[in-house]
Amino acid sequence: MSKPIAYSVKAYSAVSAQSPLAATTISRRQPTESDVQIDILYCGVCHSDLHFVRNEWHFTQYPAVPGHEIVGRVKAVGGAVKKIKVGDMVGVGCLVDSCRTCPDCLAGLEQFCAGTVMTYGSVEKYLGTPTLGGYSQSIVVTEDFVLRIPANLNPAAVAPLLCAGITTYSPLRHWKVGPGQKVGIVGLGGLGHMGVKFAHAFGAHVVLFTTSPGKTADALRLGAHEVVLSKDEAQMAAQAGSFDFILDAVSATHDLNAYFNLLKRDGNLVLVGAPEKPLSVAAFPLIMRRRSFSGSLIGGLPETQEMLDFCGQHNITSDVEMIRMDQINEAYERMLKSDVKYRFVIDLASLK
Ligand SMILES: [Zn+2]
Ligand SMILES: [Zn+2]
Repeated sequence: MSKPIAYSVKAYSAVSAQSPLAATTISRRQPTESDVQIDILYCGVCHSDLHFVRNEWHFTQYPAVPGHEIVGRVKAVGGAVKKIKVGDMVGVGCLVDSCRTCPDCLAGLEQFCAGTVMTYGSVEKYLGTPTLGGYSQSIVVTEDFVLRIPANLNPAAVAPLLCAGITTYSPLRHWKVGPGQKVGIVGLGGLGHMGVKFAHAFGAHVVLFTTSPGKTADALRLGAHEVVLSKDEAQMAAQAGSFDFILDAVSATHDLNAYFNLLKRDGNLVLVGAPEKPLSVAAFPLIMRRRSFSGSLIGGLPETQEMLDFCGQHNITSDVEMIRMDQINEAYERMLKSDVKYRFVIDLASLK
């Protein structure tokens, strides 16, 4: 196959782990028969973006363009594209392709495919160059990895659904959280605030755990029924053995065993945050009550579309703070201090 011709777009990239993000020009492939070309309107700012540009996962190639919470309008489609039309509002999340043939792909769980192509930090199938993310004016993605955005939702506030949203929706669905259950959400950041909204929408009794007393009013506004200060031993003890399910969205080192003790018999704690160092797990809180400890990673394409459709039906979006592209470095510093309610979203109209 001959390589498709590339075209140039403006973007923001980092040239090394130490350098700030700055304006640049990058290449995208011209759309092939099965591709969708998208003018990017908004891109959410995920903590993974920061890990990636600073090479904290040790696989970053430079120049690096992060961004995997992409919302935009379709500019062009290839001749074989069927479901997407020019002018459609669409989204692209963490994945832009996969092998399509392995058991995970056939199950619609492309996030677990060994041949998955991530939106940034993988290899572009056609150009052979590193994939580049959504801090840019335009992207070209194969139709099967393009998501439809419900027309009734604010597209800027939809962007974070494509990573933070599906990361919390998927485990709550997989473990069938619903009415009559008591569900804990640990941490009220980009992930946690979506976890609270979804668990509430699924009909569970929602308890938010936080270390910050200042977050109580917001947690209740977002849909929590109770707020527990996790540093307060008496408040934690009062919740012992009462939870069906706990979604742990904390990326910092923290004491898991305190949360295992809050689960009922057969209760499950699912980790969606990614602490850098291994967490310590005590055996007795698990074996004495047959409790489970699990993990979950974003979601596949079918479930991500289901999540977006659910959000359209229930009018759910992320709480966002809009920034200009040239405010991204400052936004990273604020994100490190959890000084954002609850997700930064870049207005790509500011990238001129
Ligand atoms: Zn992300
Ligand atoms: Zn696969």
